[in-house]
Amino acid sequence: MRYPTCSQRPSGQILAHSKHDVLGISFALVSYDDVLRIVEHWREMRVRQYIVLTPPYSVVLCCHDAELRAATNQAGLVLPDGVGIILAARILNYRNSGRVTGPVLMLKMCDWGRQHQYRHYFYGGAEGVADALAHRLSHMYPGLQVSGTCCPPFTPLDPQEDCAIVERINATEPDIVWVGLGSPKQEKWMSEHRGRIKATVMIGVGAAFDFHSGRKRWAPAPIRNAGLEWAYRFALEPRRMWRRFVESPRFVFGVIRQRVETRGRLWPPPAHPSRAGRDIHHDRRSPDQSVRFQNAFSVDVEEWFHILSSPIAPKREEWSSLESRSGANVNRLLELLHDHDIRATFFWLGWMAERHPALLRRCSEAGHEIASHGYNHVLPREVGPAVFKEDIERAKRVLEDATGRPVRGFRVAGFGINGKTEWAFETIREAGYEYDSSVFPSYHSRRCIHRRQSKPYVIPTGAGPLVEIPISAIDVLGCKLFLFGGGYLRLAPRRLIQWGIKRLRDCGSPLIVYVHPREIDPGQPRLSLPLVRRFKCYVNLDSTMSKLVWLCTNCKFVPMIEMAGELLHDNSAVCKDRSPADCQLPHVESQPQTIGQVATEMNGNSSE
Ligand SMILES: [Zn+2]
Repeated sequence: MRYPTCSQRPSGQILAHSKHDVLGISFALVSYDDVLRIVEHWREMRVRQYIVLTPPYSVVLCCHDAELRAATNQAGLVLPDGVGIILAARILNYRNSGRVTGPVLMLKMCDWGRQHQYRHYFYGGAEGVADALAHRLSHMYPGLQVSGTCCPPFTPLDPQEDCAIVERINATEPDIVWVGLGSPKQEKWMSEHRGRIKATVMIGVGAAFDFHSGRKRWAPAPIRNAGLEWAYRFALEPRRMWRRFVESPRFVFGVIRQRVETRGRLWPPPAHPSRAGRDIHHDRRSPDQSVRFQNAFSVDVEEWFHILSSPIAPKREEWSSLESRSGANVNRLLELLHDHDIRATFFWLGWMAERHPALLRRCSEAGHEIASHGYNHVLPREVGPAVFKEDIERAKRVLEDATGRPVRGFRVAGFGINGKTEWAFETIREAGYEYDSSVFPSYHSRRCIHRRQSKPYVIPTGAGPLVEIPISAIDVLGCKLFLFGGGYLRLAPRRLIQWGIKRLRDCGSPLIVYVHPREIDPGQPRLSLPLVRRFKCYVNLDSTMSKLVWLCTNCKFVPMIEMAGELLHDNSAVCKDRSPADCQLPHVESQPQTIGQVATEMNGNSSE
């Protein structure tokens, strides 16, 4: 099944809900009826999920609290609770079905769930609130099945107490667990208990416990319908609600900034949502570009501590004891790619694949290409041919065993093949890889190689032809300019990136974007690197995601294997920077089919 989710209407029609990014939070802009159907579908499929309802204030909290952000984005549904989110959706030109608030969702679910014999558990609220809530809802909806209630203490639970509560909830066999612990506690609780609570869905509703138990007054319907519930609550509880008002300008400013960054302008709005900001995409279809090369979006899957050539960086023996932060970040990238219907190439370290098998499978099952970044993140010049070969063969084996698919692509750590280690190309081909994306066509002493050739080409090696897809570079007055990955992407203003993409298109070169999971993680631990290195590693971490959203909105990408497959049909693509004697393409007859078949396999029903 395609990640992340889809739901089936009772009629059998598939209801897909795409996700919409608002300041890094992926909202499902669906209606109440859609939520009911989705929950029913989860129940039929025996899926266990949780739902969060997120107002603007929580979005602002997520910007500073990485744990809350991960707990929110990993939910099965993030629903727009609050008129501010709907206004943001309009500013960002997303189609939406209006607000979905916790109190209304609870009533609808209780009413609708009766015909499906849903069993409800109420967890949260102050002493006696959950009981009062269950009692009143049972009175409002005769036939409502309440499986149990629990008011946990406000103090943190120790592991034994927590296990006892989980057992107590599971023993009642609920379908829906309503969680009223208040934000951000309830989001984190649901994230931690996903899979442990044996219910179809946990739904974090907070204030609904107080409103429907009668403990607090709920705004009258006309006020709610006018979108003024926030003013009503502020009038009743100014001391509790004032902070939300203080934070509102940050939300508004953030949304405007996102609009400008992803759509290129604030006003006037684009004529049609589906056409918004697609200028470059349309340009891409121009004959010179779309036929020759497509673009590729690549991710080097490694940790925050996989920093090369520094004595400060943690040693290989220390890796296992360090905090892993890639899971949440890779998931955010997967969501971004899903939202934009993009299949990317993930260059996995073998070491990472063994520690995150479920994440690797998720990448693969989402239709992305799994390629290799080596096993131990080694540089050819430091380890020599024998160890390098062993390392990249091991990575290939690990990735193929875990995904059950052939791994054809390779990218060396740190783009670290230079003039002295050109033997690495032959080693890469010998290890069974059919294309490589390790060349950084710059004048940098460590990377100086094939510097005039920045389009994909074929390198003939003793082991057979190897397709090389170098990192995109733009020629400016004889110098190379890099804008589309790593620190370059983080540092470059969006307008410069936009100009760079047009230049690439004019030259008939593809756009190769590369990113590391740590580059979208402002909360990562910092290594005390030398000043320049520190700047390169950590500059603008908080703005990378918005640039990636902009790139995904404006460009179309294909997995690199498809690009490589095209090249082996074309003998003119043989490396032009080498001497003519080096550029004979040896024994290429059987290779095009192999790669072509893989591209077709990955496409599923590809028409190419
Ligand atoms: Zn790397």
